[in-house]
Amino acid sequence: MDVPGFRKAILHMAETLQAQKGYLTELDSPIGDADHGINMERGFSRVAVKISATEYADLGTLAKDVAMGLIQSVGGASGPLYGTLFIRISPKLQGKSEMDLALFSEAFDAGLQGLRDLGKAETGEKTMVDALTPAADALHEALKEGKNLSQGLEEATEAARKGMEATIPLIAKKGRASYLGERSAGHQDPGATSSYFLLQAFRDAAKECGETA
Ligand code: ADP
Ligand code: MG
Repeated sequence: MDVPGFRKAILHMAETLQAQKGYLTELDSPIGDADHGINMERGFSRVAVKISATEYADLGTLAKDVAMGLIQSVGGASGPLYGTLFIRISPKLQGKSEMDLALFSEAFDAGLQGLRDLGKAETGEKTMVDALTPAADALHEALKEGKNLSQGLEEATEAARKGMEATIPLIAKKGRASYLGERSAGHQDPGATSSYFLLQAFRDAAKECGETA
């Protein structure tokens, strides 16, 4: 994936979050404060405006602008968390104008580590980490099997979907939902759901560019 392809992928994330704004907010109603869709849509539309008006020579600078846009415009927990994910992805992509599965997987690992360091959530605590961690594992597996970026993203997205669905019976241990204790069980985590949508949008964009690297 080249720089224009990466920009297209981020813009596709923004469109997806706009379309899913109501659903994400609905998920955040019973176990949160009904703003996750609003937060994500606001953050990514700000990012979309910024990156549409900028020419990028490398993938890292683009990732950094995504991070800054999210941190500056998202008030909820998800802003700093996703912002940190992109901030930590950025140095891995610095100076690079092409991304294959190996580079994406390495950058994704760094981003997820940053998000985990900040939020201190382990898997099974009903957060976005429950969708992102299986996605990272699927990327490692796809890489070992010699798959390309598009195939790797296909598998990562499927793993994230399963991780997202598996948050339903969990009791939240982090974030606002944890205030509900056992009453948080029986609801799908909004952040795990937005993580799934982000990967899905990225996968579709990679497929559209005919990504085979
Ligand atoms: P807020 O909870 O501040 O209203 P959002 O509604 O935008 O923020 O985001 C809520 C989502 O953030 C949750 O569904 C969960 O996935 C994620 N989240 C909350 N706290 C953490 C944490 N410590 N680590 C990882 N993810 C978290
Ligand atoms: Mg919320």
